[in-house]
Amino acid sequence: MKTYNIAIDGPAGAGKSTIAKKLAADLGYIYVDTGAMYRAMAYYFLQNGIDAKDEKAIADACSTVDVTIQYQNGEQQVMLNGENVNGVIRREEVGNMASATSVYPVVRTKLVELQRQLAAKENVIMDGRDIGTVVLPDANVKIYLTASSRVRAQRRFDELTAKGNTCDIDEIEKDIIDRDYRDMHRETSPLKQAEDAVLLDTSELDIDGVVAEMKKIIQKKAE
Ligand code: C5P
Repeated sequence: MKTYNIAIDGPAGAGKSTIAKKLAADLGYIYVDTGAMYRAMAYYFLQNGIDAKDEKAIADACSTVDVTIQYQNGEQQVMLNGENVNGVIRREEVGNMASATSVYPVVRTKLVELQRQLAAKENVIMDGRDIGTVVLPDANVKIYLTASSRVRAQRRFDELTAKGNTCDIDEIEKDIIDRDYRDMHRETSPLKQAEDAVLLDTSELDIDGVVAEMKKIIQKKAE
């Protein structure tokens, strides 16, 4: 049976995972967070003292490290060599390492294969940077979510301060701009809107507003 796949791409902090999770729950789809896979690999590199510039060590690690996905109560769990790493991959340093090491084709090839296997088996809503362009070029619906860097920084700032962290919004915004630049300018699978993707700017919308807009896009595609 051919599966139905929805691809969501966009820069860091555009709200992709929050929205995709909600949409997947509403539509009864499986949510696949591909950023978490790059983060799991990055976590491995950090734990093992592998430098982001050491392409040889990264390639060696890719041939031995095992990354798989499981679902617990509908929540994606990333397993790194059999260990659940969901609790440790959200840190900023892991995100920055993921951005620095996702430039390597050897890292991407490994994870894209896993992503395609998941999409071939189940109806998925998959989010990332290259889903509509590279991973699932034939996805049934493609959406490119974005928001201004200031709005994205503000969202991240609110999230961190709610958890009791002290942080500086200008620094967060600078990090976001740097990460966008790296993701958009790398040679392999750069972040860009697929030609057949629908652009949705979430700067002025709340979560429910974005979900409602996405449902309209999906509905329109189905007609
Ligand atoms: O989405 P998230 O912030 O968790 O992703 C972390 C990093 O992983 C991104 O900055 C990006 O460099 C990389 N990534 C990617 N391709 C994807 C998903 C994430 O290159 N499909």
